[in-house]
Amino acid sequence: MAARAPRNDGSSLTSQQLDGLRSKVKGKVVVKGHASDEEYRPLLERWNAMHVKEANIIVLPENEADVSETIKFIAEHTLDVAIRCGGHTYSGPSSGRGLIIDLRNMRKVSVDVEKKIAIAQGGCLAGDIERATEDVKLRVVMGAINATGCGGITTGGGIGNLSAQHGLVCDNVVAARVALADGRIVVASDTENSDLFWGIRGGGSNFGLVTEFTYKLHDCDHDVFSGVYMYTPDKMDKALELFNPLHEECVMKSDGKFAVNAIFGVAGGAVMPAFMVYYDGPEEEAKKFIKPLEDLGPMTPPSGARTVPHTASTDWAEISKMFPPDFNRIVGSSTQIDYPVSMSVLKKTVELFQQKISLFPENLGVSKLIVDLRDYTKIASVPLDATAYANRRTGMLFGIDFIWDDQKLDERMMAEAKDCIGTLRRIIKETNEQRGIADVGGHVAATTLYPLITDGEEKLVSVFGPNLQRMRELKRKYDPNVMWDKWYPVDPAELSN
Ligand SMILES: Cc1cc2nc3c(=O)[nH]c(=O)nc-3n(C[C@H](O)[C@H](O)[C@H](O)COP(=O)(O)OP(=O)(O)OC[C@H]3O[C@@H](n4cnc5c(N)ncnc54)[C@H](O)[C@@H]3O)c2cc1C
Repeated sequence: MAARAPRNDGSSLTSQQLDGLRSKVKGKVVVKGHASDEEYRPLLERWNAMHVKEANIIVLPENEADVSETIKFIAEHTLDVAIRCGGHTYSGPSSGRGLIIDLRNMRKVSVDVEKKIAIAQGGCLAGDIERATEDVKLRVVMGAINATGCGGITTGGGIGNLSAQHGLVCDNVVAARVALADGRIVVASDTENSDLFWGIRGGGSNFGLVTEFTYKLHDCDHDVFSGVYMYTPDKMDKALELFNPLHEECVMKSDGKFAVNAIFGVAGGAVMPAFMVYYDGPEEEAKKFIKPLEDLGPMTPPSGARTVPHTASTDWAEISKMFPPDFNRIVGSSTQIDYPVSMSVLKKTVELFQQKISLFPENLGVSKLIVDLRDYTKIASVPLDATAYANRRTGMLFGIDFIWDDQKLDERMMAEAKDCIGTLRRIIKETNEQRGIADVGGHVAATTLYPLITDGEEKLVSVFGPNLQRMRELKRKYDPNVMWDKWYPVDPAELSN
């Protein structure tokens, strides 16, 4: 196998070479030091300000041919490359010092009502596809907010409020068009390049850039009930006691229609319990599922809890208002534990989170411990080797978001978040061992982390579990020189024969 060539940041490219690229693409080519700050700087922004990097070249393709030409240019000059869709990753793989393929101008969606499919360009935001499909009384599976890009959420797995009924976002892809490392565009589906189709569903951008996704759609002739129930800190124990019954009696008895995210946010130094609910139907139907939350006595009328179109329930512009101030230095991570979860584990988890957060009395945004109480049966029903996505277990998903605004705190916050999730994983591992449940280390079943909520530094085996070997085989076939090296890149050289 050819040795891996080092990638360069493009700073030594000549004007002539850059003009050569410009002459081949319809979209803009923005070059650091040549473009104005007004044009250049906004293109670097990401949801997580920790990952703003000064790329030398940003290409904004208008179409698939532009993507293809840009990739050929990258290959010719062995450039460092990152793909940016919605810019909403936690860990920053859409940023880089070399060339960014920024898909923000590729956001067309077309819906075939007869076939119940949507064809979405690879730069769409979730909201673009949700709106286009809701207009014709169909629904697409995306994440819980409309601002994430379809590129990141689909290739990484994707869990949303419709997932208990219809599976992961990636499980709802029926075909894709993929730009490979040599610039060729190929179809990936069950019948064409089926190995590539396997890889882009959970393998991230390891094998190429998806220029177009075809999604399966679902009938939708009704609104949904969604909102947030918030409680005073003294109700913490009672809120935790609700977890197992809420899951058992409500979530699991709702035919996948009811999903709850418990959110423990920090306000004024204390951790406040809250539950964000989604029911795929009107309030009258949701009533019996939300009863335990109403009985617990929320602080004020629950924020935004009402019957709304699905698209309103994912409106990030509205949801984010609940978590002021809008700081944007963030580190997030996740892990999963099987049901039922003991009170002592839940309490230890909240205490641990509170203890970490209390180290930083100032400079904090609403840092959160999020526990996803969803019915994962449908997701786990797909065989582990059917797609690259490896976390197909039922269980409670814990995520942490540490949020701050002072750059000087970066290192400490990263370290504390890592320690927090590491400790939590140890607690979970010990608990699972006591209960005889095979855990992450052994990869008997699946992994226990959600790869789209990580700090980007997890071991590959924890991300891809038993699918890692096949990932390496595909990397050797589709990207042997590891051009796509930003989101958990696997190394074809580590392929054991
Ligand atoms: C506020 C918030 C809420 C979230 N809620 C959820 C949720 O409910 N459910 C959930 O599952 N996740 C959720 N996430 C995680 C989110 O899905 C991931 O961070 C996802 O990667 C974001 O995708 P993006 O396109 O916006 O990111 P970007 O930063 O633009 O891209 C991330 C990476 O995705 C890959 N990529 C992007 N586009 C393409 C493409 N067209 N082809 C190939 N690879 C591509 C690239 O590797 C890129 O580096 C949330 C994140 C945030 C910040």
